[in-house]
Amino acid sequence: MDFQQKQLIAPHVVLIPSAGMGHLNPFSRFAASLANICQVSMLSISPTVSSAESHHLSDMFSAYPQIHSIHFEMPHYDLSDYPGADPFFLRWEMISRCASDIVNHILTNCPLPVTALVLDIPVAAKFIPLAKSLGIPCYIMYITTATMLSFAAYFPTYYDSKTTVGLGDVEIPGLRTVPAASIPRALHYPKHLFTQPFIENGRLLLKVDGIFVNTFESFEKDSLAALRDGHVQPDFPPTITVGPLMPLKMPISGIAEVFSWLDKQPVNSVVYVNFGNRTGMSKDQIRELGLGLETSGCRFLWVVKTTVVDSQDVAELDDLLGEEFFERVKDKGMVTKGWVDQNKVLESNAVGGFVSHSGGNSVMEAAMHGVRMLAWPMLGDQRINAVPVVESGLGMWVENWSWQGEDKIVSGKEIGEKVKEMMANEALLASARLVGEEARRAAAPGGTSYKGLVEFVKNLKERI
Ligand code: UDP
Ligand code: UDP
Repeated sequence: MDFQQKQLIAPHVVLIPSAGMGHLNPFSRFAASLANICQVSMLSISPTVSSAESHHLSDMFSAYPQIHSIHFEMPHYDLSDYPGADPFFLRWEMISRCASDIVNHILTNCPLPVTALVLDIPVAAKFIPLAKSLGIPCYIMYITTATMLSFAAYFPTYYDSKTTVGLGDVEIPGLRTVPAASIPRALHYPKHLFTQPFIENGRLLLKVDGIFVNTFESFEKDSLAALRDGHVQPDFPPTITVGPLMPLKMPISGIAEVFSWLDKQPVNSVVYVNFGNRTGMSKDQIRELGLGLETSGCRFLWVVKTTVVDSQDVAELDDLLGEEFFERVKDKGMVTKGWVDQNKVLESNAVGGFVSHSGGNSVMEAAMHGVRMLAWPMLGDQRINAVPVVESGLGMWVENWSWQGEDKIVSGKEIGEKVKEMMANEALLASARLVGEEARRAAAPGGTSYKGLVEFVKNLKERI
C-alpha cells in the first residue's frame, strides 16, 4: 500500500526531532514502530551537526521508505556568534527560532493532512502554541527516563519559587529529592543556552495531549505513578510508556570489526565501554580509563571519544594511549574511535557488562538486552537516569566519580576495581537479566509499551 492509499484509512503523524543521535535514534525507532500502524512523516534537517546523524538519516530513510521524509534546510547561522556554545544546544535554539517556518514547510510539503505532531522536548515550547493555534493534536516523545521527565516537569515550579540565587536540592513532590549536584550543570547558569528553553519546555509540556516516554512500566514505577497521580504537576498529560523502543532493522554504518572480535570472546566476558554520541572525555581521563580497563583484568571493547562533535575528533589512539598500551592489552582489548552499532554490541553474548554515561537511550538499550551497567554519569540528565538504573537492579553507580565542570580525574586504580567488581557480581548479572525479561515483555505484542502505541493510533483514528 503506498502513502496516498494508506491516507484513506490511517492517521498521519508527523515527528519533529531535534539534533543529536540520542534524539534521532529514538525518534527513528518510534517512527518505524508507528509506520506499522499509521502514516508517518519525519522532519529531517540538514546539514546535521554530526556525521553520525547524517549517516543515520540516509540509512534510515532508505531502509524505511514507508517513513516519509520532510526535508528542511537549516538557514546558515554563525557559530562564532556563540563562542564556546555546545553545537547541539545551539542547533536546538536555531530549530526553535525556525519553528514557524518549519511548521509552514511541513504543511505545504506534506502530501497528507497532519493528524498529530510529535515533538522532541528540547524544541517543544515554540511548536506547541503553533500546533494549538492550528488545532493539531500535539504530543511529546520524551527520549530519556520518566525520572528525568518528572524533574523537567517540576523544575519550572521550583525555579519560580526558589528564594536563593543558586540552585539547591530539588524536592519533586510525591517522588524524590534531586540533589543540587545531580542537576544538569547548565541549569546552574540562568543565561546558559540550555536553561531558559529547559524551563519553557517544562512549562509547556503540561499543555500537550500526551507524552510518550522511552521507558517501561516496571522500570520506573514510582516516577510514572507520581506523574500520573498529579503529584509532580496537577493535571499532568497522559504519560504513555513506549520503551524500550525496538532497534531499527537495517545495517548501521560503523566499525564492523568489533563484531568479528566479539564473536571470538567467551560468554559474558567483555566489558563494553561507551559514553554516547556527544560526551568527549579529557585526554588525562582517557589514559586513566585505559589503565583501569587494563588492571581490571577483564576483556574490553572501548569506544573512545575526545570531542562533542565526531568530525572534530582528530586525536589518534596511539597518541592518546601510547603504543605500549596497545601492545600490553592486545590479547584482551579492542579500542576504537569510530561509531559502533551499540544495540548489536549489547545483543552479543560476549558482553557481560556496560560502562556507560547512562544517557537515556543507552540505559534502555542495556535494559532491553539485560546487560548489567556500571553507570558513570558525565553530564546533563545522566545522574538523574542513574537513579532508576540502580533502583531497578540493572546496574551500579559510583556517585563520587567526576561530573561535568569538576576538575577531577578518577584514577585508573579506582576504575579498575569497580569494573572488576561489576564483572564479578553474579547477583547483578541475574537482576539485570530479569530487567531484560521485563523490558522485552513490555515491548512485545500485548505488552504495556506496545499497547500504548496501539491505543494512541486508535484514539487518533477516532478524531479523523
Ligand atoms: N550510539 C551508538 N554507537 C556509538 C555511540 C552511540 O549506536 O558508538 C547510540 C546509542 O546506541 C544510543 C545513542 O547513540 O542509541 C546515544 O544516546 P544516549 O541517550 O545513550 O546518549 P547521548 O549520546 O545522547 O548522550
Ligand atoms: N531535556 C528536557 N528539556 C529540554 C531539553 C532537554 O527535558 O528543554 C532533557 C532531554 O530529554 C535530554 C536531557 O534533558 O535528554 C539532557 O540533555 P543533554 O544535555 O544530556 O543532551 P542529550 O544528551 O539528550 O543530547
